[in-house]
Amino acid sequence: MIDIWEKTLDWKPSLEQQELFQCLYKLIVEGNRQLNLTRITDPEDFWEKHLWDSLRGIKFLISGEGIDTRKNQIIDLGTGAGFPGIPVAIVVKNSTVNLVDSTKKKINFIDSILPVLNLNNTFATTCRAEEIGRDSHHRETYDIALIRAVASASACAEYTLPLLKLGGLAVIYRGNLTDQEINNMENAVEQLGGVIESIEQFNTPISNSDRHCLYLRKVANTPAKFPRSVGVPAQRPLSGIRS
Ligand code: SAH
Repeated sequence: MIDIWEKTLDWKPSLEQQELFQCLYKLIVEGNRQLNLTRITDPEDFWEKHLWDSLRGIKFLISGEGIDTRKNQIIDLGTGAGFPGIPVAIVVKNSTVNLVDSTKKKINFIDSILPVLNLNNTFATTCRAEEIGRDSHHRETYDIALIRAVASASACAEYTLPLLKLGGLAVIYRGNLTDQEINNMENAVEQLGGVIESIEQFNTPISNSDRHCLYLRKVANTPAKFPRSVGVPAQRPLSGIRS
């Protein structure tokens, strides 16, 4: 797979990182026997949909000249079995990664595998995105917020933007993304103190599946009323109508 990493991300994993990816694969397959963690367990599928996809979203941090050496505070919301956050933590060693999910059994699983992967820069927290976004220890403290397959694009914006420092970046990983969703996003993002910096469309390198990454830059403080209470961002996503 080294060739594909180089061609698509202008980056290649070190031997240590390749071993850690292997180890992560084994741990997930073992964990899946007892817990329903992920549908993706075929080795090639795992490589493409969990490893490659997770790192494609942070290409801007790793490709070309080499790893960005700034110490970034990163949060992954709705991480599930640890994606995209664990592959990111393996690759961006100089940063701190907080993996957050509302399901305790998933966070317990992650807690059990972090020491095996020797990821001292990584923590796991059981919490709802709506709650951690209101917690003063976390609000406006992150440089990068990642979120994949958790909610609609507008709800993801409401979960991520409150957690970012000014100048921070939210990365929303999507499969399909319609024009309607993009239209709804624009106003939602503005209300939350962000702007849509870019939208990247690409295909995955093996199965050629459609993917989008939305990059939101935080340009103003998020008003205190956001994120709204648990469940509200997903049930009543912010749209074109100003609240
Ligand atoms: N990001 C992972 C998992 C996606 S499944 C991946 O791409 O593989 C969605 C996960 O988000 C589930 O584990 C669910 O428990 C979590 N989740 C959903 N809503 C959430 C919320 N409001 N706050 C925190 N976690 C949430």
